Amino acid sequence: MSKLFKRTKILATIGPAVFTEQKIEDLIMAGVNGCRLNFSHGDYVERDQQIKWIRQAAAKKGRSVAILQDLQGPKIRLGDIKDNHMDVHAGDELILDHACETHDGGNVIPVQYNLADKVKVGEPLSMFDGKIKSTVIDIVSKTAIKVRVENEGFIMSHKGLNLPDTDFGGDIITEKDMADIEFGASRDFDYVALSFVQSASDIEKLRQILLSHGSTARIIAKIETKKAIESDEAMEAIVKATDGIMVARGDMAVEAGAEVVPIVQRKLIAMCREYGKLCIVATQMMSSMVDNPEPTRAEVSDVANAVIQGADAVMLSDETANGKYPVETVKAMKKVILYTQNHSHVSPINHEVTGEFKNYDAIAGGVVQLAEKIGADLIVCQTASGATAQAIAAQRPKLPIITVTSNPRVAGQLALCYANSAFVRPYAENYGIDLAQELKESGYIQVEEGKKDIFAVVMSGHKEITGGTDTIKLVRI
Ligand code: ATP
Ligand code: MG
Ligand code: MG
Repeated sequence: MSKLFKRTKILATIGPAVFTEQKIEDLIMAGVNGCRLNFSHGDYVERDQQIKWIRQAAAKKGRSVAILQDLQGPKIRLGDIKDNHMDVHAGDELILDHACETHDGGNVIPVQYNLADKVKVGEPLSMFDGKIKSTVIDIVSKTAIKVRVENEGFIMSHKGLNLPDTDFGGDIITEKDMADIEFGASRDFDYVALSFVQSASDIEKLRQILLSHGSTARIIAKIETKKAIESDEAMEAIVKATDGIMVARGDMAVEAGAEVVPIVQRKLIAMCREYGKLCIVATQMMSSMVDNPEPTRAEVSDVANAVIQGADAVMLSDETANGKYPVETVKAMKKVILYTQNHSHVSPINHEVTGEFKNYDAIAGGVVQLAEKIGADLIVCQTASGATAQAIAAQRPKLPIITVTSNPRVAGQLALCYANSAFVRPYAENYGIDLAQELKESGYIQVEEGKKDIFAVVMSGHKEITGGTDTIKLVRI
């Protein structure tokens, strides 16, 4: 039975390709556990529509689906390009002008930020997520700079610019982010992801801002700048300060060089597992499926490696936001996750209980060992704050964890957490066992052929209070 439950979760970016409730429901049924709303694109009206659809579809299907708000951060983007397409060639000279409002198809290009007082001649500037390379050759006015293009290709509206050697100084949380955080707090998102994190203090700042809006959303630090990965200590400080991280491989490759990505990915996943933090691997996992119904061998391998390394979740960007085959991509990804988890172990790692010692950390270790030794079919976890469920997940068990909580916020957050399927039920002393019974009757969990019952290890507290975990039971369901 455990072979049918994928333990590595799928986070899908919601965009124009899935802009109906039915399409979002299809994504969820294909295996999506969380939806990412990228606040670099779209407006609040569109956002509200998507939030409504995600919540309705999840409720209809009885699933917990996390919603993650991805803040744009200090990302510089092009403005509107005429006909949303402009070819460029090596040697072309382009003027990037913050004062330019409409692009007439010529070489003066609107850009959403004034670069003129920030960049220096000679600095590299790339466009369209690194696809077009150029060098700054002149500062032409108070609002405009001139660059020389180095390769052939094209640019499109609102695509990102990267200036890895330019010092922008100061705060990474922009005015737009502040407004988006306030909007997010009022919509009760489960996670907030902060782009271009440089250090732990960025996370602390965001936490204060969230609290000031009454938001208890968990923070995901997107790791994508040179500064964040300059040393193991720098990465570790961010991992300690945050609730989770995203290995944001797109901008990381452009900012720091593509060759650093695989090693940084391994280190970050290991650190997150050591400290019990959530870890998401993102960008280009199934890229070719934007246009094709099948993934490449390299993409399959990439997803499998993230599973073997023990990531909590793998993410899809353009594939589901903008691609031709959003549902097929999720299905293909799920297939790779299932095959890999069923034919390989997650690479072992020292999960150290850091900070204050809690009952649930100790009991979680025992539960996983016990469940695997006696050949249980699943682990059932009753949790108030989610901490117990997360502590079990940190052990990377081979069994599914069926979690029950009375708090919808906790269930939403656990949707992205390794091996957890979280359900919301009113608190009762044995609500974990009651839920397992209900899931067996509905066919969601099934008795394996040749067996009589489902055998579960249940972890619970006698009251639903944070840190109240005190019991392990062996139960036939
Ligand atoms: P980031 O660096 O934050 O990942 P991105 O531009 O790469 O920014 P993704 O979220 O990776 O954005 O999505 C990939 C592409 O899908 C975007 O460049 C955009 O063209 C499209 N897209 C995503 N979300 C939306 C949306 N809500 N509305 C319109 N287009 C979207
Ligand atoms: Mg971004
Ligand atoms: Mg992207």
